[in-house]
Amino acid sequence: MIKLTEANYYSNESSKDYMSVSQLKQFMKCEARAVAELKGEYGPERGRALLLGSYVDEWLTGTVESQDRFIEENRSELFKKNGEKYADVLQADEAIRRVMEQPLMMKYLRGKKQVIMTGEIEGVPFKIKMDSYKPGEFIADLKYMASLRSPNLFEPMVKYWGYDLQAACYQEIVYQNTGKRLPFIFVVVTKENPPHLAVGEINQWNMDEALETVKARIREYQKIKNSELSPERCEDYNCKYCAETKILTEPIDTDLFGMSAAQIKALKGEL
Ligand SMILES: [Zn+2]
Repeated sequence: MIKLTEANYYSNESSKDYMSVSQLKQFMKCEARAVAELKGEYGPERGRALLLGSYVDEWLTGTVESQDRFIEENRSELFKKNGEKYADVLQADEAIRRVMEQPLMMKYLRGKKQVIMTGEIEGVPFKIKMDSYKPGEFIADLKYMASLRSPNLFEPMVKYWGYDLQAACYQEIVYQNTGKRLPFIFVVVTKENPPHLAVGEINQWNMDEALETVKARIREYQKIKNSELSPERCEDYNCKYCAETKILTEPIDTDLFGMSAAQIKALKGEL
């Protein structure tokens, strides 16, 4: 097991040794893709949304050194050839400015920044990195997101994006390290113009339920990581990995076109 530091936290070696919330969510979406990423056979999606999220994170919860490193590593994506920032970077600057004007938001962002902890969930080594942590008081996470509204009318935003899973795992690992179960606070600013702002505390009931979901699945994912079980392909219509690597073996009923593996199983009464 490697010792986690700021420099190696997101490395492939660290992802092999430890499960994380993002890895867990990958496994829940598509086991085959999660494994391909761990093996380095499939690149993680590094879209502009992720870059801008990191940019806002850096400016509100980063250190001077990490901010300098971030600018160096991403200069060409943040600045045009003439040295001006791209429009969406200026929009992010506006979001940062709005957050900095809000005493409540800044209160939660002024904990210890980017704190790494490790623990175990169901015996599986687990790593977390907190945006802002005030020992004995709270864990806070900053989100720069498209909208406060859930893309799914029937599912609250926090659940849709799996933020309940994140809160549950973070709270559990902090508890294992300190013996204290802390409130989990989301500090949210949107990419809309003007940005919407919100500070929310996720309720304990949601976290308890999410932790049960994690506990029910994490050992199976670990077995897949250890090559003791083979990963399942999700075959979801929106999964780029499954689309890019699909090999057709036999004709299927045309009624099943466009359905995911889970939908087909459900239809056949296997779920
Ligand atoms: Zn897939």
